[in-house]
Amino acid sequence: MPLKVHPDIASLVPYLPGKPIEELERELGIPRAIKLASNENPLGPSPKALAVLTEVAGTLNRYPDGGAHRLRRALADHYKVTPDQVILGNGSDEIIGLLVRTFLSPGDEAVMADQTFVIYKMEVTAAHGVPVIVPLKAGRHDLPAMAKAVTPRTRLLFVCNPNNPTGTMVAAEDVAALMAQVPDEVIVVFDEAYYEYVVSRDFPDSLGYVTQNRNVIVLRTFSKVYGLAGLRIGYGLTTPEITGYLNRVRPPFNANSLAQRAALAALGDEEHVARSRAMNQAEMARVRTELVSLGLQPLPSEANFLYFDVGRSGREVFEALLREGVIVRHIEGRMLRVTIGLPEENTRFLQALKAVLQRG
Ligand SMILES: *Cc1c(COP(=O)(O)O)cnc(C)c1O
Repeated sequence: MPLKVHPDIASLVPYLPGKPIEELERELGIPRAIKLASNENPLGPSPKALAVLTEVAGTLNRYPDGGAHRLRRALADHYKVTPDQVILGNGSDEIIGLLVRTFLSPGDEAVMADQTFVIYKMEVTAAHGVPVIVPLKAGRHDLPAMAKAVTPRTRLLFVCNPNNPTGTMVAAEDVAALMAQVPDEVIVVFDEAYYEYVVSRDFPDSLGYVTQNRNVIVLRTFSKVYGLAGLRIGYGLTTPEITGYLNRVRPPFNANSLAQRAALAALGDEEHVARSRAMNQAEMARVRTELVSLGLQPLPSEANFLYFDVGRSGREVFEALLREGVIVRHIEGRMLRVTIGLPEENTRFLQALKAVLQRG
């Protein structure tokens, strides 16, 4: 029986996650492979989060608190907003999907950058919306061009900041100019998955726009600096009106009980965050210097990864690195993205890359 599938769905390509370590070890028989492909925290989960998991385990026969009251209250206190301004997701990925399903009707447009987080385009296409894609300018979101791309059909505008996969940032004054131009009925989504890694003082206060009651949502996650990617928990900070609509579409138990409790503990684990940030900063500087000495030019990064042009087929370099037991991410063409790992992992990556590039 031939299936009837909408062409928008047929046009999608399944998301290709970073290769798991075990798969590489099994396929190529390479022991001690390292993964620097998914921007995970190499120091592991927050120890405080780990400590509460066994406590929750005994209550797994119960459904989670569908309202996630404790975690939403803690996030609200942390960010000085009210609990009705906090929405949780099974990863912030899920909130992107909720935003699209809630606010975008078929044929409506969503403005996004070219070279940005691939989930935006996937969700918009799956919802029969129209992704309006604006090229980056010098590796950054071209916010003036994105503002100009807004039409009466635009419902959402995605700003990934720092941007994945480039690591680049748009600054407060550029965002202020964007917010002065975008009509109020367009929801501006600031995806700040790497917020805790940002060092620049020019980073925009996106939450300030929420406080001013603009139609803005700020997405953050426990998957990156907090080291809880496997638990799947992220959140959005926005207006009570926007959470009100999102909650009509949100599956009631989308944030599982382990994730809720672990996130609550991780939020209070300032030490883990500080240690992760400090190591990332020091190691990113070292990896950058080494890449530059290999003749490469990584883009400036405010996140926990670097993006660079290898001057030849990125796929070939990616595959040669796999054979050295190092998993990075091939983005497109000559571009690779590498996550900053533990010092010894970074050293191994740099040695492998040097060997691969010298071999030619
Ligand atoms: C990692 C990442 C996320 C977070 O995804 P989760 O679903 O919370 O794990 C969101 N946006 C960007 C740009 C990311 O890189």
